[in-house]
Amino acid sequence: MTRAVLTLNAGSSSLKVALYPEAGTEPLASGMADRIGAEGVLTLKDASGAAIGAAGDIGSHAAAITAVIEGFRAHWPDLELLAIGHRVVHGGVAHTAPVSVDAETLEDLARLSPFAPLHQPHNLAGIRAAMAAFPGVPQVACFDTAFHRSHPWVNDTFALPRALYDEGVRRYGFHGLSYDYIAGELARSAPHLATGRVVVAHLGNGASMCAIQDGRSVASTMGFSALDGLPMGTRSGQLDPGVVLYLMDQKGMGAGEISDLLYKQSGLLGLSGLSNDMRTLEGAGTPEAAEAIDYFVFRCQREVGAMAAALGGIDALVFCGGIGENSRLIRARICERLGWMGIEVDHAANAANARVISSDLARTTVLVMPTNEELVIARAARAAVGLMEDAA
Ligand code: AMP
Repeated sequence: MTRAVLTLNAGSSSLKVALYPEAGTEPLASGMADRIGAEGVLTLKDASGAAIGAAGDIGSHAAAITAVIEGFRAHWPDLELLAIGHRVVHGGVAHTAPVSVDAETLEDLARLSPFAPLHQPHNLAGIRAAMAAFPGVPQVACFDTAFHRSHPWVNDTFALPRALYDEGVRRYGFHGLSYDYIAGELARSAPHLATGRVVVAHLGNGASMCAIQDGRSVASTMGFSALDGLPMGTRSGQLDPGVVLYLMDQKGMGAGEISDLLYKQSGLLGLSGLSNDMRTLEGAGTPEAAEAIDYFVFRCQREVGAMAAALGGIDALVFCGGIGENSRLIRARICERLGWMGIEVDHAANAANARVISSDLARTTVLVMPTNEELVIARAARAAVGLMEDAA
């Protein structure tokens, strides 16, 4: 019998999946469905990278989930699905940990959709589809906001009339599954750092930083939405709200247009006029691509300073995410002006993508740690059905 838990990350027209065994850190299989609703394509691979045949109709999330399971069942005819873990962007104020989902919880989570209209409805559609396809299987929601609920009030609020705070206009913070994973890995592999003041830079197509003290989040660059903080692939990052007023008043732009501008046309793409992809920009050689990188680096440097200030100092800086884990150039450039906070890169170690890239004499340890949000979800799904945490 192949007993396993499934992780699902449902976007507007995409679905990322991974199948994990009862214990251990390596998935049995993973996959991705793209362009759901159009001419959707589903690709599934086993642990060796070999394709698992999974053709099928993927006109909807429900159909995609069914096709995923049919693909896995064709490969493992004795597959028993123990639980399904879902990435859900928003858990609001109440959810500080993963939760088993029933119809009532689903309704509560749907009430948070106005806070994350581009993601939450799709995440919940994924849960509904999985519930319909596998009625007896426990569904577990894992929230991007949950890790940050330890923020003190001063990092949770905006300086707006209090009624808005009370109705939920707060700095929630996101990428919590990634920070949860990094905090856990640090506790396991570098306990002397895990109990200290750590700034984690999750730099990918979405990007944010988190200030972690003794394993708990005290501040993050993302706030009410996943637009705030660092510039990203296509998102603006931190912005004077006066710009939004200008766009509305002087240019007559509506909410939909502004949303499209800030979420889809800004960031590295907007600045470079070329691409949202850091690797492409690093190889582009145009002045605009160089300036987009300059801006990204500068804002990262500023925010490392801001996170360290929230912590009252810094013992370690951790890079993760596609850019953080792979771009020697961006890591070196962010660190090069942070010598005043004890950060000094060993260039050979950085070029080798080593785990520790700070020089031996540096006061602050700089680490590169691959993050693993799927594993955090898989562990929550296992825990929901009483499986013990793996020792790794
Ligand atoms: P993620 O969203 O975490 O998958 O990260 C995607 C980002 O990582 C994209 O901007 C990629 O261009 C970037 N990335 C991945 N590998 C590299 C690399 N070797 N050098 C520079 N950027 C990279």
